[in-house]
Amino acid sequence: MSRVAVVGAGTMGNGIAHVFAQHGWDTTLIDVAPGLLERALQLVRAAFDRQVKKGTVTVDQRDAALTRIRTSSTLDPVAEAELVVEAATEQPEVKFKIFRDLDRLAPAGTILASNTSSISITAIAGQTKRAAQVVGMHFMNPVPVMPLVEVIRGLETADSAVEEVAEVVKALGKTPVVVNDAPGFVSNRVLMPMINEAMFCVMEGVATPEAVDTVMKLGMNHPLGPLALADLIGLDVCLAILEVLHRDLGDDKYRPAPLLRKMVAAGRLGRKSGRGFYVYRD
Ligand code: NAD
Repeated sequence: MSRVAVVGAGTMGNGIAHVFAQHGWDTTLIDVAPGLLERALQLVRAAFDRQVKKGTVTVDQRDAALTRIRTSSTLDPVAEAELVVEAATEQPEVKFKIFRDLDRLAPAGTILASNTSSISITAIAGQTKRAAQVVGMHFMNPVPVMPLVEVIRGLETADSAVEEVAEVVKALGKTPVVVNDAPGFVSNRVLMPMINEAMFCVMEGVATPEAVDTVMKLGMNHPLGPLALADLIGLDVCLAILEVLHRDLGDDKYRPAPLLRKMVAAGRLGRKSGRGFYVYRD
């Protein structure tokens, strides 16, 4: 396989396109929002420049990778793709419609992967006539840096599709971990309750955000405190994932902290809006 289409050019989509292009894939980055593709390309260029500065990528490798990325504002280029990775907005109706369209447009043998954080892979696959070839491919943020990709097997996913995706992950220099489809998979099932509990601590006045994060960094050896991590992920994304865990597992231990709801309602979404538990000036 050497041709990939990435659907959605936000935080995750541009990172995913970056990593595929870096590893020699012809990459088409697709988004429907006007202006977003140009911004995504600027972010990819800036991320490659940082890698050149660090010495992990040469100037020639950067330039070659950048020539491999094309952009499109329609899904038509998936007709040429051997693999599609969807990284669009985390809303079931958005993803369901995209997968119905991908199933119609992509060649019969093409694997359709989703980077969803929490939506059921089985339900996404159910929108297509190729459920055996629909797999979760859950990259971590920031994509060029993080070594893990959680590979999710839906109820109808074929072993061969899981294996192919795991091989692709290895070829991208990352480590695949295969898990079964369940709300939040493993990563967010374990991470989000911790982030949520940190928010309850702040809400109840147990400690400041700085104190909570310092306890977890220095006491538990976490590189980033849970509230700084929530700001990086996006508080709206955290809320969406917690709502899926709460609804689909039916257990109140996953109820989102009211403080999280309030912050999202106020537009304090974390780094992307300039303010979350911390203020970001850049
Ligand atoms: P984002 O909001 O930054 O980007 C989503 C992009 O999808 C937007 O640019 C939007 O214009 C585009 N989009 C919406 N509908 C589309 C359509 N029909 N066709 C093409 N593009 C469309 O979101 P994000 O943080 O990049 O998240 C994308 C996916 O990755 C979500 O499923 C999310 O759960 C998952 N994810 C996010 C993180 C994270 O840390 N942010 C980590 C892992 C996985």
